[in-house]
Amino acid sequence: MSNTLNQLDHINHRIKQAFKDSDRTDADKVTLLAVSKRHPVEKILTLYQQGQRDFGESYIQEAVQKIQQTAGLDIVWHFIGPIQSNKTRDIAENFQWVHSVDRLKIARRLSEQRPAQLPDLNICLQINISEEPQKSGFSPTEIFKHLENIADLPHLKLRGLMAIPRMATEYEQQRLAFRQLKELMQTLNEQFKLNMDTLSMGMSGDLEAAIAEGATIVRIGTALFGAREY
Ligand SMILES: *Cc1c(COP(=O)(O)O)cnc(C)c1O
Repeated sequence: MSNTLNQLDHINHRIKQAFKDSDRTDADKVTLLAVSKRHPVEKILTLYQQGQRDFGESYIQEAVQKIQQTAGLDIVWHFIGPIQSNKTRDIAENFQWVHSVDRLKIARRLSEQRPAQLPDLNICLQINISEEPQKSGFSPTEIFKHLENIADLPHLKLRGLMAIPRMATEYEQQRLAFRQLKELMQTLNEQFKLNMDTLSMGMSGDLEAAIAEGATIVRIGTALFGAREY
């Protein structure tokens, strides 16, 4: 238990330091998204008691169970995993954020299935920024064809872009991919007159590079919780 607490302090310190080291002037806070997939709900509660509020999940059944177990707590739930079209209803009904919208069809279904009495569902479009054939996400060129259709969908709020770039150990190399994602969002905002404000990028090994390039949400799992348990 105390191990998890120390890890939270440690990651929050890294985030704060990275922000200080950057030349960012935006007052936006960087949000730590604690990726709790494959970790038991007890670990979520431990971090919650320490003030952590944003949690990310990738497997819908497991996630819905945890959301029910923590009902009444002011947790913000983010879905970050691959989305099959037969799972969109559960996502639309249970989450506040979805980072992994990677097809127009998925966006349409989430829009149709978001209950009208809930606030709009915050979505990020997953971009295959390094254009790797095995990865999902819109390609940085194909996204231009779909953006207007997605931005117009009711019950969704298009917040920004998410990416998992090609693995890179070198800092400048890491920054390059994150910069490409940031510039893509700027271009899309200008071209389509949008106000996307979210860059979901950066994980345990590259959060400094991501924050230097403007990340507003970093997604951290193993470095917070240890190895996944089931
Ligand atoms: C699992 C996951 C993470 C966290 O990965 P760790 O290696 O556990 O830090 C971040 N982003 C996405 C999209 C994930 O699926």
